[in-house]
Amino acid sequence: MFGAVVVGIGTAGWVRIRDMLAPQPGSHAEQLSVRGFISRRSLDTQQGVSQISLEEALSREDIHAAFICTENVAHEDNVRRFLQAGKHVCVEYPMTINYKAAVELWDLALEKGLVLHEEHIEILTEEYKGLKREVEGKVLKEGTLHFTGGPLKPGFGFPAFSGIARLTWLVDLFGELSVTAATMEEDDSGKYIKMTAKLLTCANRPLTWIEERGPGLPRAKNINFQFDSCTLTQTPPAPVGAVGLFMQDLIHFSAKLVGQVSPEELQREKVRILHCLELAEKIQQLCQS
Ligand code: NAD
Repeated sequence: MFGAVVVGIGTAGWVRIRDMLAPQPGSHAEQLSVRGFISRRSLDTQQGVSQISLEEALSREDIHAAFICTENVAHEDNVRRFLQAGKHVCVEYPMTINYKAAVELWDLALEKGLVLHEEHIEILTEEYKGLKREVEGKVLKEGTLHFTGGPLKPGFGFPAFSGIARLTWLVDLFGELSVTAATMEEDDSGKYIKMTAKLLTCANRPLTWIEERGPGLPRAKNINFQFDSCTLTQTPPAPVGAVGLFMQDLIHFSAKLVGQVSPEELQREKVRILHCLELAEKIQQLCQS
């Protein structure tokens, strides 16, 4: 068994506890046992699980893994502390809000022989899997992915990082990208933002990624992908999957813990994650220059 702690009791942290308490039967997730949670607040037991201190979690020998579910600005420090203490880490995306730190953390995990896993539930949805099947084999001419949503709470970082899930869709669909331009609009209240990034595929096809957030904006992903054969303006209708998204991610993380994910797949994931974080940083730099 792998003893685990959850750091940060927001939406994601709560779901992590729930899923570890009732793992998918017959899956590797049954190998995880939640031993406590860590919060900056002083909280009562959560779903029957007790709060413990960070120091206790770092030093206890029956704790082998940590789930980092805090707001994004606190990910880097938490991931580093747990890796340094010899614990495996599952961190909600984005791992960090700068590229260099992510590279350092990955080097640290490698040096210590630990699993470092970044959650990406957005590529586990049935909606995305259907889209990926649709796109496969088609030749892209140009495309746009326009995300809208409500304002984010403080601590979630620059939109290219907090919105890394959208960038991950584009990279997973169309391969490695480069950034050619990026701009950011913001209103005085800071509640409305619109980031526009111009990207190019390896075949020099243009892609535009827009991340727009503001009060009253519906949470939606609007796509317009033009191929030589057709245009896709909607993700194909998809049923809700039988296994929850965070549960699928939990199973994937536990498969890594028990050595059931091939080195090739681990490497592919790492390359994709670092590539997306590097693109996010370039977008941020262009927006701020
Ligand atoms: P959240 O706002 O619910 O929680 C974020 C942090 O705020 C946590 O550390 C939590 O302890 C703290 N917090 C929450 N409520 C609080 C309160 N009332 N007082 C003081 N602190 C409070 O955010 P979240 O949705 O759980 O996101 C956490 C991480 O998970 C982020 O990195 C996010 O990018 C990632 N993530 C979330 C989802 C999701 O569906 N929620 C999906 C994918 C990735």
